[in-house]
Amino acid sequence: MKIIVTVKQVPKTHEVRINPKTGTLVREGVPSVINPEDKNAIEEALRIRESHDPVEVTALSMGPPQAEAALREALAMGVDRAILVSDRAFAGADTLATSYILSVAIKKIRKYDLILCGRQATDGDTGQVGPQLAEILGLPQATFAEEIGVQGKVVTVKSRFDSVMRTVEMKMPALIAVSGRINRPRFKTMNGVLRAFRDKEVILWTEKDLKPNPMRIGINGSPTWVRKTFVPKHSRDGLVIEKQPTDIAEDFMNYLLEKALIRL
Ligand SMILES: Cc1cc2nc3c(=O)[nH]c(=O)nc-3n(C[C@H](O)[C@H](O)[C@H](O)COP(=O)(O)OP(=O)(O)OC[C@H]3O[C@@H](n4cnc5c(N)ncnc54)[C@H](O)[C@@H]3O)c2cc1C
Repeated sequence: MKIIVTVKQVPKTHEVRINPKTGTLVREGVPSVINPEDKNAIEEALRIRESHDPVEVTALSMGPPQAEAALREALAMGVDRAILVSDRAFAGADTLATSYILSVAIKKIRKYDLILCGRQATDGDTGQVGPQLAEILGLPQATFAEEIGVQGKVVTVKSRFDSVMRTVEMKMPALIAVSGRINRPRFKTMNGVLRAFRDKEVILWTEKDLKPNPMRIGINGSPTWVRKTFVPKHSRDGLVIEKQPTDIAEDFMNYLLEKALIRL
């Protein structure tokens, strides 16, 4: 069985900074990590590998050369191989162009049974890449996955939508976008880190290797235009009352009365 996990490198959440002039994300000098839900996807792939035999797990990322660090981390967690898709021609990609390039890379990998993605990336935050990728590849898909079971050629997925749990069965190959609630990603071991940096390679595929349709990559393949981005201003401060519960209730009542929000 072959599993592909899509992995995006994102800035550490509390380090996200926007350039006020251009409205674009400042990536220079900002520490980066694997998108948290992609770590859940890697963990799930490794768990499937532990209970089924034989399973090969490939981590796939599109990004600038420094995205190699995210793939090294995936290797340290235990994936079998890592592929970085990187080329200046892919720069400026919106979610559609990103999904397209990933689909071309996956077609080049050729054999796969499952594609696992994170539900959403913490920076772009659209949650579009997984579902778009499934559409482009013509695969059945399940999102918000909180439980995955594989039996033969069928995968069963439990997903939560607010208070409703839905169970679907899909014939593989299939794509699943996992929720952060599905598992707790493992820590990297020292041996894993050593192996990832000393013994393993990150395979690099460029435009020449993938030969994508030039009209579907980079700016040309991106129908989305960002007109404006801004950091929301907090115009109101929250009220924090730290006391015994009964005193909190009294203080809160007094506050509402003071503001004429309630009348006795
Ligand atoms: C007009 C426009 C221009 C843009 N230009 C740039 C640019 O120049 N440079 C830039 O870095 N970004 C650019 N972006 C942002 C880029 O489109 C998104 O970062 C990317 O498409 C992923 O979208 P998302 O972050 O919403 O991911 P989501 O859809 O929220 O991600 C869901 C899951 O899909 C997978 N995934 C997402 N992206 C990748 C990836 N790259 N590799 C592997 N797996 C992935 C992961 O498993 C992830 O958990 C641009 C966006 C727009 C709209």
